[in-house]
Amino acid sequence: MLLDELIERKASLHAADEAMALIGTMYPLCRSITGDGVRRTLEQLSPWIPLEVHEVPTGTPVYDWEVPREWNIRDAYVADADGHRVVDFRASNLHVVNYSVPVRTTMSLEELQPHLHSLPDRPDWIPYRTSYYKEQWGFCMRHRDRLQLAPGRYEVVIDADLRPGHLSYGECVVPGSTDAEAIVYTHTCHPSLANDNLTGIAVSAVLARAMRRVRPRLTWRFVYGPGTIGSLTWLSRNEHVVPRITGGLVIGLLGDPGALTYKRSRAGATATDRAMEHVLRTAGTVHRVVDFEPYGYDERQFCSPGFDLPVGRLSRSANGQYEQYHTSADDLSLVAPAQLAEAIQVLAQGLSVIDANRPVLNLSPKGEPRLGKRGLYGSVGGNAPSGFEHALLWVLSLADGGHDLVAMAERSGVSFDRILAAAAALEQAGLLRDCEDRIRTH
Ligand code: ZN
Repeated sequence: MLLDELIERKASLHAADEAMALIGTMYPLCRSITGDGVRRTLEQLSPWIPLEVHEVPTGTPVYDWEVPREWNIRDAYVADADGHRVVDFRASNLHVVNYSVPVRTTMSLEELQPHLHSLPDRPDWIPYRTSYYKEQWGFCMRHRDRLQLAPGRYEVVIDADLRPGHLSYGECVVPGSTDAEAIVYTHTCHPSLANDNLTGIAVSAVLARAMRRVRPRLTWRFVYGPGTIGSLTWLSRNEHVVPRITGGLVIGLLGDPGALTYKRSRAGATATDRAMEHVLRTAGTVHRVVDFEPYGYDERQFCSPGFDLPVGRLSRSANGQYEQYHTSADDLSLVAPAQLAEAIQVLAQGLSVIDANRPVLNLSPKGEPRLGKRGLYGSVGGNAPSGFEHALLWVLSLADGGHDLVAMAERSGVSFDRILAAAAALEQAGLLRDCEDRIRTH
């Protein structure tokens, strides 16, 4: 399917079904910020898109951070005196605090308690906990099961490695016809949770696959990496790309029942912000737009003042805003194909608009140029201009270099598609040109 086709309801539903199947295969893998679970996850994308997988060694400095040791886990459990596993990693990878250091010991229930995490308010859900940067270990369990633990000795095993290795991230680059670039980033570091973060990975794969079937104007980079350390690592290795980035989105959490939520870039009112707000408003989708705050996902890094990129974020319920967030209840049943399909529609349209949007300059700005003699205007006078003719007049009027096509659509009330078609016709007629000076078309 082409990107434009995904804007249609039926095609987006079909793509959502494919995304659901992909989410189902990725779901059991134990992901983290590093390790084989991430590599296996990226491998799942290979039938969808060609992905270049980058392996960055432990200890590599990344601004104020460094790439951590790599974590891999084989098994983990807490067993009672009879050898019965009362907490078992094989049943759910959420049972282990992600990035736990290895442990093999026995201890009393009293000694074990500080290492256990549960949710008294949600006794049937397993919480998801991590400890990336502090060396410790722990288990997460249903509160109901925790209350059943009898006093006595317990065997505690976390059969894991935490040693020098690599951080893995994947990147699919779709070359464009100009030097300008855009990025779509989604995090890959959560184990068996569905909405956060498998919906982001799957929807990004849908979009990248569709983008590869068109010749975009911008070069699009679809990046799949761990939260925070992944986007920092990408930025540190791509500083030469950063000045060319004119748009971008962080995406994730796209399948829960919440309304679509667009979070503006830190700068606000960037071309990305205006494009996404225009698309959400004109699509008639129930949605929310929220201002930037320095809490959330990888938009924090892209929008940090040293980069200040025009990168916004699309999710449904934001981080922490739905009750199943970071618990075992964020499972496959939480993700509705119809919700995914709507996100795919909006993103397909959003990416199309971000790709096509540009400021343009009227090359015949003194008075109205004669459109009739160029075959662009009806030859019989007296009639009101047609919709397309109306769009031509709006583009010419606003093409002073200070308006891009989204600004023209917003100001005129004419659809973006029609403004785009009018701009293309005027360019063809030699009456208009792109005026993004730093962008060279090749
Ligand atoms: Zn999360």
